[in-house]
Amino acid sequence: MLCSNCNQDAEVLADDGRCVDCRIESEERRFEIIELAREQRQEEGFVEIDDDARLSEGNDNGCYVGAWVWVNFADTKFDKEMEEKSENEIAQH
Ligand SMILES: [Zn+2]
Repeated sequence: MLCSNCNQDAEVLADDGRCVDCRIESEERRFEIIELAREQRQEEGFVEIDDDARLSEGNDNGCYVGAWVWVNFADTKFDKEMEEKSENEIAQH
């Protein structure tokens, strides 16, 4: 069987048709890109990047990395403290 990436003969191929060496290599690259994304973009509590974040890479000199972006509910219709707040306000008056 030939690896779909390096075309070397391999005894075992992964589901995506790549040999073990290519898989390890691309996993290491993936991990390094995620590390780089964290250095450049991660902000504790605001932008978080998982170890298994999705990458979207085209021909440009960089790529997109899936991240968690914190959304603040305060003073919106999703505010979870709104009910408590209004109860406290009623109690104060
Ligand atoms: Zn290969």
